[in-house]
Amino acid sequence: MKELHTGANYWNTFTTGDTEWPTLRESLRTKVLIIGGGMSGLLTAFKLHEQNIECVLVEGKEISEGSSLASTGLLQYCSDLMLHELRKMIGRQKADLFYRSCFRAIDEVRRIASLLQQEVGDCQLQSRSSMQYCSDLKDIDKLQKEYEALSSLDLPCELWDQHIIVQHFPFSKRLALVTHQDAEINQHLFVIRLAQYLSQRGIKLFEHSKASSIRQHNNGAFSVLINDQYTIEAEYIVHAVGYHSEQLQLTELNVKSNRSYVVVTEPIADLSSWYNGMLLWETARPYLYARTTPDSRVIIGGLDETSSKLDRDKPSINRHIDRLLAKLNELFPSFHAAAYQSWNAYFYEPQDGLPYIGLDPSNSKHVYILGYGGNGTIYSMLGAMLAVPIVLGNANTAEHELLSMLSLSRLSR
Ligand SMILES: Cc1cc2nc3c(=O)[nH]c(=O)nc-3n(C[C@H](O)[C@H](O)[C@H](O)COP(=O)(O)OP(=O)(O)OC[C@H]3O[C@@H](n4cnc5c(N)ncnc54)[C@H](O)[C@@H]3O)c2cc1C
Repeated sequence: MKELHTGANYWNTFTTGDTEWPTLRESLRTKVLIIGGGMSGLLTAFKLHEQNIECVLVEGKEISEGSSLASTGLLQYCSDLMLHELRKMIGRQKADLFYRSCFRAIDEVRRIASLLQQEVGDCQLQSRSSMQYCSDLKDIDKLQKEYEALSSLDLPCELWDQHIIVQHFPFSKRLALVTHQDAEINQHLFVIRLAQYLSQRGIKLFEHSKASSIRQHNNGAFSVLINDQYTIEAEYIVHAVGYHSEQLQLTELNVKSNRSYVVVTEPIADLSSWYNGMLLWETARPYLYARTTPDSRVIIGGLDETSSKLDRDKPSINRHIDRLLAKLNELFPSFHAAAYQSWNAYFYEPQDGLPYIGLDPSNSKHVYILGYGGNGTIYSMLGAMLAVPIVLGNANTAEHELLSMLSLSRLSR
């Protein structure tokens, strides 16, 4: 299995109690087998368990070692593709349903984080507002249109003009779209807490247990070979394998393969010029994104490049770190920020901006949760929420519509 990120990862510095799970040592049977122990897999296990649907999860490496460890933990209801653009692309009704669903998905993450906090421990979720500032004067119109589109759905947002921006931040931009009820999270801790919570409730989670061949019997049930040794029999398979798309037997994913760079700074002595710890991003594509942390650091990411390889070249990595720090110090000159840790990671961008969630068009027992795109965590949540009605066979009209919009039939096989 390919490596999904490289470098020194800040999230690994958090110790969290039990963080190891057994390797599968026997064959077994279950209703739903979830393949993949990242955000998508664990959230799906959580949602299935809540509905008393039996499931087993296998992870080929370690839980939360994939892209979930590389995330910067910004949870925003706005996608990379703006609502007014999405309306043009897929029609108003569908676009509105998608945006409303993303908004609901953040609330669901918030609810789950609060439950985990009571039951197993904190995952540093903090509600935040976001500010998307215009990187270029030509984007002013875009932000205004987006404000109107979001407001038409009563999604919580404001437009800030230059005057308001300089009252809140040490930098000046012509216009910004501020959205409320977003959040930041320690995504790694969240995934680990989910695993701790589920295993305390008897859900079987296995690490170092790689699913290889999948065989379907005449009665529709599957036999999945794990570590070439044991078999798990299941009625449904949820593929939550993230960017390990090479094993999905889907010949071509309509995605752009990028790599993205992240820097976590040394603690900043005085973060007070960063208004209310807002999540920052911009209208440029690819965009810069930044947030603060509970231990007074800044996480800044971006400089995405089209590449299907991780960057392992020290001088190149250093150049990217310097560029990210220069951008941060340009926005906040008093910070004099220095790098603490940094990594770069694979990042898939779907060509039409939407994740791939739902059934294999040719096999209604294969469920895919491929939350590709900048809002990956929200898409993982959305996928987990949709997995329940898929397995129970009781999707309502809105869920049917979402599933058809996000369907894998967009893929060429
Ligand atoms: C640099 C960067 C920054 C990001 N920042 C944000 C952000 O701020 N906000 C946001 O919402 N999203 C962000 N994302 C996206 C987010 O990280 C991902 O969308 C999310 O973590 C994907 O979770 P996942 O569970 O689908 O994949 P993963 O976390 O990669 O989990 C998939 C797992 O499946 C396992 N697996 C694969 N094949 C098998 C097999 N055959 N058998 C067993 N196990 C298998 C893998 O080992 C892996 O652990 C960011 C991504 C990157 C790269």
